Amino acid sequence: MDPSSNIDWDSLGFDYYPTRSLYRMDTNTSGEWQDGGLVPFGDISISPAAGVLNYGQGAFEGMKAFRSAKDRITLFRPDMNANRMLQSAKRLVMPKVPTSKFIEAVTMTVKDNADFVPPYGKGSLYIRPLLWGTGPVLGVRPAPSYTFAVFVTPVGPYFKGGVKPLKLKMTRNFHRAAPHGTGNAKAIGNYAASLYPLKLAKETGFDEVLYLHAAQDDLLEEVGSANVFVLKGGILKTPKLGGSILPGVTRDSVIHIAREILHLDVRETDVSIDDLITADEAFCTGTAVVVTPIGEVTVEDDAYSIAGQGEGEVTGKLRGLLTAIQKEERDDSFGWITALD
Ligand SMILES: *Cc1c(COP(=O)(O)O)cnc(C)c1O
Repeated sequence: MDPSSNIDWDSLGFDYYPTRSLYRMDTNTSGEWQDGGLVPFGDISISPAAGVLNYGQGAFEGMKAFRSAKDRITLFRPDMNANRMLQSAKRLVMPKVPTSKFIEAVTMTVKDNADFVPPYGKGSLYIRPLLWGTGPVLGVRPAPSYTFAVFVTPVGPYFKGGVKPLKLKMTRNFHRAAPHGTGNAKAIGNYAASLYPLKLAKETGFDEVLYLHAAQDDLLEEVGSANVFVLKGGILKTPKLGGSILPGVTRDSVIHIAREILHLDVRETDVSIDDLITADEAFCTGTAVVVTPIGEVTVEDDAYSIAGQGEGEVTGKLRGLLTAIQKEERDDSFGWITALD
C-alpha cells in the first residue's frame, strides 16, 4: 500500500508527516560535494561532535510545491531559495550548494514523493532543504564535512475554516537579530533563540511576537518567521532589508504584485510602531503563513486593533493574487512558476 494512500487531505495541518524518500548529498572532509541522491525517508545518524550539534552550524530553507489548476505540480521561485541558501552558507562558513544542484535535488525529491502533494486546493507539499556541518569538531571552527538534505511533508492550508487575523505581542525585552548579526541568514540558531519569547507570548494569549530593530526600538523589524507590511492611505510600507531582516521570497513577491498588478506605492523603508498602530491594514508574509492579516497588536500594555480586527481589502487581494499565481489559476506574468513534468 502506498504510504500516502491513507492521508486525510482535509485534516492536514502544519505538522511533520513522514514521506517516501529524501535527498542527501555529503561532502568529503575537504568540503567538496560528492554524488548525492534519494534515500529512503528515515532518521540520520551523526557524530556527537558534529559541527551542527555543538556550534549550530546549519541553515534551512522553506518552500512549497502545489498541485495546480492545470493539474501539474509546480514550484514557486525555487531560484530565490537556492540563492538565499548560498548567502546563509557563506555567513556560516559552509560549502555552497550550486543553484542547479539545489533545484535538481528539490525537483527529484518532489517527484519521488508526488503522491504526497495534496490535491488541487487542499494544501501543498512543504519542502525543507537543510545544510549542516556533519563532521566532528571540538574547538569552535568550521566542521570538516557537510550534508545537504531535502525532505518534504504535506501540509494543509494555514487557515482551516477561513482567515484568522493575528494577535501580535510587540516586545522590547527580546530582539530577534542584531545589526551585523545573522538575521538575514536562515541560520538554525536564530529560531532556537525565538522559542522563549514565543512561549511567553503564547502563554498570554498571543499568536506571535513582533520584533523591533535592535538598535532603534521604535522601528518594526519582523514577526518570528514572517515579514511585515503596513498600508496607510494607499502607501504600502515594509521594513527595508538592512542585514537583520530575513529577505523573504513572499515579501519580494508581494512587493512585485502590489506595484505591478495593484499599482500601489510600495516603499521599502523605516516602518515605525506608530505606522503600524495607525495603519488601515497590516499583514505578514511568509511561505508558511502566505499573506496573513494582523488584527491586533499590543504595545507595552496597550492593545491596538487594525482593520477592525478583520482582514483589509488590499490584504485579501494580495493573498488572492499570490495564491492564484501559485496555483496557476492566473497567468504567471512574472515567470515565477516552474512546472515539473
Ligand atoms: C523564512 C522567513 C521569512 C519568510 O520568508 P519566505 O521566503 O517568504 O518564506 C521571514 N522572516 C523570517 C525570520 C524567516 O525565517
